[in-house]
Amino acid sequence: MNTDRKAHWAVRQSALPAVVRPCPDCPGTRHRASGRIRVNASGKLLDVWLLLSCAACDRTSKVPVHERVHVSSLEPARLVAYENNDFAVVRELTMSASLATKNGYRLDWSGTWALETRTPLYALDDPTPLTVVVGFELPAPVRVERLLMLGLGLSRGAVRRMVGDGRIRLPLAPDAKAHRDFELTVHGPGSVDAAKHAKPLGAPTEVRTDARSDARTDLGHAESHDAPRPWSRSATA
Ligand SMILES: [Zn+2]
Repeated sequence: MNTDRKAHWAVRQSALPAVVRPCPDCPGTRHRASGRIRVNASGKLLDVWLLLSCAACDRTSKVPVHERVHVSSLEPARLVAYENNDFAVVRELTMSASLATKNGYRLDWSGTWALETRTPLYALDDPTPLTVVVGFELPAPVRVERLLMLGLGLSRGAVRRMVGDGRIRLPLAPDAKAHRDFELTVHGPGSVDAAKHAKPLGAPTEVRTDARSDARTDLGHAESHDAPRPWSRSATA
């Protein structure tokens, strides 16, 4: 029953990403969301822009979100959100990878997140495997290795050793960048050796006992289901 050690880590948003593109007025390239969206109507056609501010000179610049779209093609609630500078929509547009691609700029995610670990300290030498569920509040690309260093309080070298030894098992490479939820497991020291060499002799024996008793129960059912058969057979004989 001790197979359920589980921890939850959350990549929490602490800021919006910066938009990186040249400023026409100064040598700066970093822009932050101003928190505003501009809607311009010309008859039934609308233009919608996300407004940015240059981090260096504060110049306002515009990112086109919709250009000359018919008013009926936008959800009314969406239009209201644009008109009210709805923060959720500002956030969504500022983080949008497709808007960045469409408009030829890059997003800088540094300083946008912090790791929150709800389980304070784990005994890393506990032989029971620990499952860590990593949840992302924002799609910030975070190097897996860095998450492990922060979450486990270990050096890069220690993390690499544990990954190399199979004590930390990951669904992606340690130097890959994750940006959505995933799970990893941390195994106690010796657990890898135990798994390799001692499986038939160690703790799994208990598990097998359980399995056997289950099997017995199943057999019991099978026997009672099959019970009429021997009778019919004996009847034939
Ligand atoms: Zn500027």
